[in-house]
Amino acid sequence: MTDCIFCKIIRGELGAEFVHQDEDIVAFRDIQPQAPTHVLVVSRKHIPTIMDCELPENMELLNKMLAVCRMIAKREMIHEKGFRLVINTGVEGGQLVKHLHIHLLGGREMGWPPG
Ligand code: AMP
Repeated sequence: MTDCIFCKIIRGELGAEFVHQDEDIVAFRDIQPQAPTHVLVVSRKHIPTIMDCELPENMELLNKMLAVCRMIAKREMIHEKGFRLVINTGVEGGQLVKHLHIHLLGGREMGWPPG
């Protein structure tokens, strides 16, 4: 059992607006959306960061996470205009929740460089 916020959401102890669930991955809307579409695509397995995601054994999981991003982008109708996928990693990467996740952001024009 872990205190991780995303583990609590996955176990159903904290509410979230799920947009996808399968045996390896869940996706839910970010509680503080930074764009009209802001979905978090999250591994069910508690992996703190992408640097803890050893290869090749997690290759299939990473592929599936990207496939889920593509599927949700299409469903949210942001696939044609474009969107952004972000994996914040570690302190300088701005990672607040230490549980592997991909931000799917879309529905507005994104700036570059990111903050
Ligand atoms: P990161 O900085 O990449 O670790 O992003 C963590 C994200 O999780 C932030 O965008 C938060 O707004 C989001 N978040 C934190 N708690 C919750 C929650 N209970 N439900 C949905 N999103 C959350």
